Amino acid sequence: MRLIMLGAPGAGKGTQAARVAAQLSIPHISTGDIFRANLKNGTELGLKAKEYMDAGKLVPDELTCDLVADRLQQSDCGGGFILDGFPRTIPQAEALDKVLEKLGVSIDYAVDIDVPDEAIVNRMSGRRACVGCGATYHIAFNPPKVEGVCDKCGAKLILRDDDKPETVQTRLSVYHDQTQPLIDFYKKKDKLVQVDGTMPMDDVFAAILNVIGK
Ligand code: ADP
Ligand code: ADP
Ligand code: ZN
Repeated sequence: MRLIMLGAPGAGKGTQAARVAAQLSIPHISTGDIFRANLKNGTELGLKAKEYMDAGKLVPDELTCDLVADRLQQSDCGGGFILDGFPRTIPQAEALDKVLEKLGVSIDYAVDIDVPDEAIVNRMSGRRACVGCGATYHIAFNPPKVEGVCDKCGAKLILRDDDKPETVQTRLSVYHDQTQPLIDFYKKKDKLVQVDGTMPMDDVFAAILNVIGK
């Protein structure tokens, strides 16, 4: 199964992509996680991406598309994958189409997790991310067993710089301008499925499995 997760920042793409990936035994590919891992390792890509991420802007397509193209050609993607946070622009979606065409495959579904802007700021201010493994929690909706400590790896949990309310507003307007048009893009291709992302996490997960026929 080849899936794309669409949705505003904070809609629950990462949370659900991790669960779907585990359920279907396919790799979870998050461009945000790849950029953050690069930053942690001090690579040039990480340092370049940081400027944009901190400002709530998108990292330029030139830095993003090749990275995903390389990742999709690795052998673990042969049986499918779930893309989380890519594509985020129409040119990225077109670049993805080209790579998949070259590989002789296509997307099965683009899953849009629909959450209104009003609910997003709350989600982001309560999100906590693990500095070790990238797992995410929410202080109210999905708290770790021990406050401030990752259940999975024991590392520290932090509020991401770009999850502060001022940056979240910018990210939301970038989403509406540049990413939301992808909903129509995939609708026209007859690949779009939508779920109500305001439901509890387990219900959103069940709804996703249902719309992708699993
Ligand atoms: P969220 O899941 O909350 O939207 P991500 O971890 O997906 O956050 O992304 C964090 C930041 O990384 C984005 O705000 C953007 O700066 C950058 N980023 C991630 N994916 C892409 C992409 N496909 N194109 C451009 N920038 C990206
Ligand atoms: P995205 O990858 O789309 O930016 P995340 O999966 O990181 O979103 O979720 C954003 C925040 O909202 C996290 O703190 C997460 O724990 C929480 N969250 C995710 N799904 C739900 C849900 N259905 N109900 C309440 N909170 C949620
Ligand atoms: Zn962790």
